[in-house]
Amino acid sequence: MKIFKNKHKLQKAILNQKNLSFVPTMGGLHKGHISLIKKSNKFKGKNIVSIFVNPKQFNNKKDYLNYPRSLNKDLSILKNLKVDYVFIPNKKEIFSFKPKNNIYLDNFSKKLCGSFRKGHFEGVLNIINRLLEIINPKRILLGAKDYQQLYLIKRHVTKKGIKTLVVKCNTIREKNGMACSTRNKLLNKKQARIGSKIYVYLNRLKKRHVVNINKMKEDIKNFGVKKIDYLEIYNLKTYKKTSLINKNTKIFIAYYLGNVRLIDNF
Ligand code: AMP
Repeated sequence: MKIFKNKHKLQKAILNQKNLSFVPTMGGLHKGHISLIKKSNKFKGKNIVSIFVNPKQFNNKKDYLNYPRSLNKDLSILKNLKVDYVFIPNKKEIFSFKPKNNIYLDNFSKKLCGSFRKGHFEGVLNIINRLLEIINPKRILLGAKDYQQLYLIKRHVTKKGIKTLVVKCNTIREKNGMACSTRNKLLNKKQARIGSKIYVYLNRLKKRHVVNINKMKEDIKNFGVKKIDYLEIYNLKTYKKTSLINKNTKIFIAYYLGNVRLIDNF
């Protein structure tokens, strides 16, 4: 496993790698990241994982500073997974050049997380655009847990004619049903139990056809959730909001357990 902090050294090392699979992360690695990396191992060619806690996607400085970081543990996980290249740039490496492409921000960026976290998706796309330009991978693997992010990156890649393929990877869950997340490390046992109840509840409701969103919000608050940013259903063909559930729809939620903001989709 070769570790690079400098983008030029990395670029020199991967110059002849025409079949690179890329997994971008913010570190704090868990089973969700590991499944993406294992999937990247299945493709022919080499793989590369980046670890960069992107300051531009945090709309709250405290949240950025509190974001769990565990670089040494992450590196030992990556080594065990036999990852070929790891890129751990600092802010200067990422921001000290002007990318060829500007970002394409699809209108869906204004919904869900976009309406609660100002500048979040601009921040995500800013960094992904830079990482894609530095690495020029054959494919990028992204988790369906961050569904809106996955969709917006795909739209950016398509609109800008970037040759990288976007590979969607399933959401990996904890034993209690909650989607694995670096932020789960910040939860106490009681909070994790509430997260688990929300999983069971929404997973059951997604099998219904018609739901009452206000009643759902009330039920979730009764589990002990103080704040729900959103609980909305979208049709994934039209990207319009709906209250009817069918095979083309997804329920999206963002809620707080204490100060920890969590997202999921069903
Ligand atoms: P992050 O480190 O949170 O920025 O996530 C890096 C990548 O891992 C993104 O593509 C996420 O969608 C993906 N990811 C995070 N959590 C999960 C999960 N529970 N299951 C599958 N993929 C995930």
